[in-house]
Amino acid sequence: MANSADLIIIGGGIIGSSVAYHLLHDGFTGKIIVFEKDSTYEFASTPRSAGGFRQLFTTAVNIQMSRFSLQVYKQFAKNMAIGDDTFEIDFKQRGYLFLGTETMMQHFKEHVKIQHQNGVSSELLGKKELLEIIPELHTDDLAGGLYCAESGYLDPYSVMQGYIKQAKKLGAEYRYEEVGSLLSGQNRIKGVRLTNGEECLAPVVINCAGAWASSLSKRANMPLPVEPLPRRIFLFDCEKPLKNALPLTMDPTGAYFRHEGKKFIAGIAEDMEPKIDFTWKRSEFIDRIWPILAGRIPNFEKVKVERGWAGLYDYNTVDHNAIIGEYPGMKGYFTAFGFSGHGMQQAPAVGKGISELIRTGRYETIDLTPLRVERFAENDLVVEDAVY
Ligand SMILES: Cc1cc2nc3c(=O)[nH]c(=O)nc-3n(C[C@H](O)[C@H](O)[C@H](O)COP(=O)(O)OP(=O)(O)OC[C@H]3O[C@@H](n4cnc5c(N)ncnc54)[C@H](O)[C@@H]3O)c2cc1C
Repeated sequence: MANSADLIIIGGGIIGSSVAYHLLHDGFTGKIIVFEKDSTYEFASTPRSAGGFRQLFTTAVNIQMSRFSLQVYKQFAKNMAIGDDTFEIDFKQRGYLFLGTETMMQHFKEHVKIQHQNGVSSELLGKKELLEIIPELHTDDLAGGLYCAESGYLDPYSVMQGYIKQAKKLGAEYRYEEVGSLLSGQNRIKGVRLTNGEECLAPVVINCAGAWASSLSKRANMPLPVEPLPRRIFLFDCEKPLKNALPLTMDPTGAYFRHEGKKFIAGIAEDMEPKIDFTWKRSEFIDRIWPILAGRIPNFEKVKVERGWAGLYDYNTVDHNAIIGEYPGMKGYFTAFGFSGHGMQQAPAVGKGISELIRTGRYETIDLTPLRVERFAENDLVVEDAVY
């Protein structure tokens, strides 16, 4: 096997594979090698994601990325099909709903203005309209909600498989090896060294290693403020079915829930210690999440937890958004990590953007420069009022 390429991607999850696909689809003619340490993707974040898709962001760049991805996901099965392999991603456009207290509604009013300026059909709801969507909802402590009907949830694993298979079909070579370090010299990236000792050379290396990306970058003296942050999800059933299919619903407490088939999944966004940790306990659901759910929807008073799992956010500790672009002072080294819990929905836009940046030297479809690496040194942060 040749140990050189025109471009190396580290990490073949949804981001790395979207980048590989878009480059080749858009006309990149060089040789691409994707290094992926685990062909089963057992601990990758993508298959462990909640699959939530929303446009209810408050920065133009995040909204535009979601708007782009929305169009892609609506047509994904059709456009990515390879013969009979159609990659049904089960995109349920059942809406995305933030429930709000009186204070939160003041913020939502500002959010709606930004969202409308950027083409999102979000709406402020009163209690009556909340009950039309979720008739069983307890609304005593709520003042209303912020809702986007076009959004919802989908199956991240199938999206990832679609990108992997298309990237392979277009010529990307996937090698199931772990990258141990980055090789560089004279302010230029030179390639990677694998943990098996082999070197692979390339003038362009894109770090899409998810929750493991920042430690690789840091070891090469290119630190970024991103840590692996554990997040847990629980699958449960309840005795009495709900009248309507649920939107992805975010409670004011940070707990969220949605249908998963006829059952439900739920999780909670709360402060955790950054570390690589895949443990989960049933008691976390019972003690922390269940009381919130049962208080919100009486049907959830009687639930049976079937299973849970933990996954890792690649969590940007400074402004909680992706870090995308060439690392200053290291020609050819690009980052695409720090997604902080919204990378699944941004994957199509990120792939498209990086493809443009590398092939033409500039963004054409969406300007991703607000997400550049330099923003930390320049104190030009991407402050998102709606990241959980
Ligand atoms: C519990 C949970 C819920 C989430 N919910 C949502 C949601 O509702 N909506 C949303 O948009 N996003 C959500 N996310 C976030 C989303 O899953 C991630 O942003 C996205 O999957 C990141 O994709 P990735 O390709 O960067 O990472 P990954 O899928 O982790 O892929 C990175 C790959 O790199 C490989 N790798 C790592 N190091 C190396 C190395 N040294 N050499 C070779 N390969 C390497 C790994 O094996 C892995 O396969 C959630 C995440 C979690 C954990």
